[in-house]
Amino acid sequence: KASVMDGDKYGDEVPMESLDNSKEKSALQKLQDERKTLPVYPYREELLQAIHDHQVLIIVGETGSGKTTQIPQYLHEAGYTKRGRVGCTQPRRVAALSVAARVSQEMGVKLGHEVGYSIRFEDCTSEKTVLKYMTDGMLLREFLGEPDLATYSVVMVDEAHERTLSTDILFGLLKASRNTSNFIFLHKKSKPLPGIPLGWPTNYTLHFSTVAYMHWSELKFDITRFRTDLKLLISSATLDAEKFSDYFDSAPIVEIPGRRFPVEINYTKAPEANYLDAAIVSVLQIHVTEPPGDILVFFTGQEEIETAEAILKHRTRGLGTKIAELIICPIYANLPTELQAKIFEPTPEGARKVVLATNIAETSLTIDGIKYVIDPGFCKMKSYNPRTGMESLLITPISKASALQRAGRSGRTGPGKCFRLYTAYNYFNNLEDNTLPEIQRTNLANVALCLKRLGILDLQNFDFMDPPPAEALLRALELLFALGALNKVGELTKVGTRMAEFPLDPMLSKMIIASDKYKCSEEVISIAAMLSVGNSIFYCPKDKQVHADNARMNFHFGNDGDHIALLKVYSSWKETNFSTQWCYENYIQVRSMKRARDIRDQLERLLERVEIELTSDPNDLDAIKKAITSGFFHHSARLQKYGSYRTVKNPQTVHIHPSSGLAQVLPRWVIYYELVLTTKEYMRQVTEIKPDWLVEIAPHYYQLKEVEDRMLSLSLSLSHTHTHTNNNNNNQL
Ligand code: ADP
Ligand code: MG
Repeated sequence: KASVMDGDKYGDEVPMESLDNSKEKSALQKLQDERKTLPVYPYREELLQAIHDHQVLIIVGETGSGKTTQIPQYLHEAGYTKRGRVGCTQPRRVAALSVAARVSQEMGVKLGHEVGYSIRFEDCTSEKTVLKYMTDGMLLREFLGEPDLATYSVVMVDEAHERTLSTDILFGLLKASRNTSNFIFLHKKSKPLPGIPLGWPTNYTLHFSTVAYMHWSELKFDITRFRTDLKLLISSATLDAEKFSDYFDSAPIVEIPGRRFPVEINYTKAPEANYLDAAIVSVLQIHVTEPPGDILVFFTGQEEIETAEAILKHRTRGLGTKIAELIICPIYANLPTELQAKIFEPTPEGARKVVLATNIAETSLTIDGIKYVIDPGFCKMKSYNPRTGMESLLITPISKASALQRAGRSGRTGPGKCFRLYTAYNYFNNLEDNTLPEIQRTNLANVALCLKRLGILDLQNFDFMDPPPAEALLRALELLFALGALNKVGELTKVGTRMAEFPLDPMLSKMIIASDKYKCSEEVISIAAMLSVGNSIFYCPKDKQVHADNARMNFHFGNDGDHIALLKVYSSWKETNFSTQWCYENYIQVRSMKRARDIRDQLERLLERVEIELTSDPNDLDAIKKAITSGFFHHSARLQKYGSYRTVKNPQTVHIHPSSGLAQVLPRWVIYYELVLTTKEYMRQVTEIKPDWLVEIAPHYYQLKEVEDRMLSLSLSLSHTHTHTNNNNNNQL
């Protein structure tokens, strides 16, 4: 950190590592020339002047105009990085990574040196790093360690129009860290208040504002909070910048006019029954009948993209040599980095590229050469029901604003065409104008914990740009209280402070903290790491489904539940010394396992930070399950008739996901990791528990009577035969 601050190491010139190869030199020269052709370039001086003159600036410019890659470089060239880093946030990990890679190329430096990126569980920066691209969530976490962002001279909150949860919270914090009235501050010559620490200058006292205030114990950090020298750039791809400007006390807006060519919009005459099929047919039609130019198709996620890729490969195989080559490039968050680079490679003469992308290509990434856009009109979106506390990922119609952005991707380098796989009627009458900001449709427990950790006690009055529903906030506080992270008056407890150290959902953090008590932290961090990787551990090729299923079920031997199965996968892999061959043999994705290992390593380091020792008893599965229950007791469900389940609190009918090892076992009481809504509401990653654990572990949350009918029936069934345990579960329902 210090090396950045003491400056002078880097002059106004872009530092370039010595390049001995003239070919590389000319490639670099070419990149430098390209930079000058971007729409933002003519505005370079104007922008720098505006940044010099104002503390906060709103920047609006079309996708592809050069905001993300160029502005941080301009700041570097103008010497801002002598005073501290330039941080630039992105809502998506892939964008942070890809943009950092691009900028490091343009500057002719190695990624991770002067230009780096930081995403959850992956820090590719060094002492040298002056331009730091990161997810908005990572900057939020940096606030915890450095509430005044002292190592930064400029923070650029990019892609602000996306209005992710973390971006919205950053807005509030950044506004507060500039605006002294939002925090406790030293106020000359007013009445002294009790509780001022010794050694405090006595002619200064504390002034409370009603907006937000710091906890006493945090006072020592607070004084440096006035970062009047911190420059704040808010950049957005859409034109509704007024709202950002209003929020930041009428900050000036700079507009960068983009180049935009006309885009012809086509709708379908009738609604499409299957948009995936329709999209594939459209790709092939364009490929066969339309003039050269690449195609961009928007899908909702990895699964759809993989399916589309397979079908397209299959169908183009039979096209013969008369038809030009179709190069298929998928892009989604979990795609390995080396494959991600492929979408940016220029299309060879005579071929056509089709990019199958998630929402990431809407505004975060710009792919040159796109002439045709296919927009099925859907995206995957989080939705949260504060009444039931349930969160689901849903395939949802996009907003008009999104549809407009998507169409715009075809008109960057010349006139384009957009094929909307929905009717004009649907567009005009059914699509919302804008997507609801994430803060209004998500679980806020994580954010609430983070803000509490920052000493912001009164969340109800935090200066949100669009406040979350009061009920959602209340739910979040309730959850944190139930987890023991907050006390009755809403202050952070020791448990809460330790939980906040982990970049995980509070339930997962609590599970880890609880593993200390149950002496199984070794196992529990493996489980947490495996859960964090998501649903890409098991690999199931369509032609070997039976083998893959058998391999998967091996880990479910003993019916110990999905968490324990994940643990077994990890431990077995570790025993083979992390063998790739072993993964192949067991239909397990090596890449996901490596990621789990990285995450686990980090969790292990964090354990040290919160002073939890590594403890292990691999045979005491109940201890492990109890630790899991300590985090996930909210997610409990009880078996009903016909194999469905009912959640215990806020009763809802749910089912065990068919991929679960317990899908056939149907234990009477389970806890689950998450709910997914497909054809039904499914619980994913399920473990059997004993109902009395709920009362033992969360006595403030569960009363005996909620679980005791079950215990009565248990004692009854014990006195009968054992054959009843699986089928005769319905007597009390
Ligand atoms: P904005 O942030 O305004 O949307 P960017 O700065 O991301 O624009 O992109 C500017 C230009 O840089 C784009 O036209 C694109 O061609 C190029 N570019 C950005 N990222 C990459 C990359 N990873 N590989 C190749 N070119 C890129
Ligand atoms: Mg950008």
